[in-house]
Amino acid sequence: MSGSITFVGAGPGAPDLITLRGAAALRDADLVIYAGSLVNEELLELAPKARLVNSAKLALPEVLREMREAYEQGGHVVRLHTGDPAIYGAVSEQFRELDRLGIPYSVVPGVSSAFAAAAALKVELTMPGLSQSVILTRDAGRTPVPEKEALDQLAAHGSTMCIFLSVGEMESLVKKLLSAGRSPSTPAAVVYRASWPNEQIVRGTLSDIAQKVADAGIQRQSMIVIGEVLERNGDLSKLYDESFSHGYRRGGRCGAGFSGKVALFALTRKAACKAAEIAAGLHDAVIFVPEKYASAVPAARRRSFPGGGFSAVFADSWKQFDAFVMVMAAGIVVRHAAQLCKDKLHDPAVVVCDEAGQYAISLLSGHFGGANRLAAEVARITGGKAVITTASDVNHLLAFDEFAARCHYRLVSKEPLAELSAARLDGEAFDLFMPQELFQRWFADQPGFRLAGGAPEPGAILIRRVANGTELRLVKRKTALGVGCRKGVPAERIREVVLDVLDTHQLTLDEVDVIASAELKSNEPGLLEFARSAGKELRFFSAGELNQIPVPTPSAAAEQHLGLHSVSEAAALLAAGPDARILVPKQSRSDVTAAVAMEVDHV
Ligand code: SAH
Repeated sequence: MSGSITFVGAGPGAPDLITLRGAAALRDADLVIYAGSLVNEELLELAPKARLVNSAKLALPEVLREMREAYEQGGHVVRLHTGDPAIYGAVSEQFRELDRLGIPYSVVPGVSSAFAAAAALKVELTMPGLSQSVILTRDAGRTPVPEKEALDQLAAHGSTMCIFLSVGEMESLVKKLLSAGRSPSTPAAVVYRASWPNEQIVRGTLSDIAQKVADAGIQRQSMIVIGEVLERNGDLSKLYDESFSHGYRRGGRCGAGFSGKVALFALTRKAACKAAEIAAGLHDAVIFVPEKYASAVPAARRRSFPGGGFSAVFADSWKQFDAFVMVMAAGIVVRHAAQLCKDKLHDPAVVVCDEAGQYAISLLSGHFGGANRLAAEVARITGGKAVITTASDVNHLLAFDEFAARCHYRLVSKEPLAELSAARLDGEAFDLFMPQELFQRWFADQPGFRLAGGAPEPGAILIRRVANGTELRLVKRKTALGVGCRKGVPAERIREVVLDVLDTHQLTLDEVDVIASAELKSNEPGLLEFARSAGKELRFFSAGELNQIPVPTPSAAAEQHLGLHSVSEAAALLAAGPDARILVPKQSRSDVTAAVAMEVDHV
């Protein structure tokens, strides 16, 4: 049996800050060589069968001899370094020597003390408007620092600094920072033994930090953090900003993204990994993979099938999902999907993606099914390019059926669609009857459209071709919000959860037509008050009615306590009408659950 050598980052001190992989290596270890005072000895208890050697007492050649001998005898060696091995870990000379001897090794990262100190200070080291860089450095000590990296050079950047190994010479350090032009009022903090039981924090500015550290008697084992970020007065991050489009979020409202049930299919290991990456960025997605690649995708999303079973599994799933993302060659998809297609109002969206994630091709149901939107979303997640071939998109026009799908309207009849779409591409004029707000948002900036009147009736829209009067009528899809709540939950809390759930799915309370729940909640004051203040109809359904409705997310707890297999999903489906389906599956908070169902098309 051959041995192994693993360099493991022990983390900053607290024994539960080692990684799971690092802990596993310790459990298997026959020899642990650990780096003196900053590795918590409690970690050594994770290595019950190992011989323990403190490297503080050894010179490098002795450390290497220990490692090599144990390795050659088939032993598992762990070289345990404080924090992360890559920062001031003196690992490179060990790597070099092992390379020379032809002995293989691996490295497990750890939580560096720079990050443990940031956690102790509860600070974001990179705050927009203040600093977007962190300099990890040290003052020159016994180990010299290259001249171009001298502290007074680095400090001139004004970036956040985490300074290691230097607390023993605070006064001279502060002098260098000041001479680099940093103001005496620059915030500074020193964290002694971050994450250890005797952790200590000293906060100040460059003008007083040296004195405060001296007063506290701190001389070693500390991280020095310098920078305006310590005051936390920077700009807010764009990451959660409504208007900022991020791979995993979408800017703008009114359904710019895709929100149906998605099945991803992959047939190779590389494709399975890409599918997992894509699925993590979508709302509601599962991944079908051949059994032998099952380990490449997380169990919670996995639907594995036996080798050779693709064709049957794909056909079976065709009607069960709103969309398919096929991470494979387009030819395979075309051949299999061709036999299953019906028409553009019924077929699911199909997007094909190559296994490197370079292209996301909208293959089927681009507008109404949402494949164009889904392709754009997949491309955003992979950093690739969406390939869209529908004419109106190529001409940067929003197609009528795409508009309907995005704003949750349905076509009363699809007959006029082809004629109107062609007229549109020819640049003809249209009269629109719709709420002013919708017109402004979707049509006002496009030539040929005139707002000729408001909605012909509540929840309806009319699009009229001026040349011959042909009309396309759209009706808002009935949308129901199902709500379950604990006894006594106040209206304000229900509102907060509901708005949060709607918001993460790009919906607003305005779009909800009816709120629904179980009959046994019909006297729940918070729920009644919430529906009244929202100005919405509130409907209740009996246990018998609710239990007849199959739902995506049944609840064992509700079944046990209330005799109901579902409250929010079943009530939403019942209230949205016989053709409804779940748009937002049940979202649970501790005291409130919410789900949204929406009427689908019947044409
Ligand atoms: N590889 C380690 C750093 C080793 S150099 C890491 O990634 O953290 C040793 C220096 O790290 C110490 O002088 C001190 O500046 C810093 N340090 C290590 N552990 C620390 C802790 N728990 N709290 C504060 N500073 C620590």
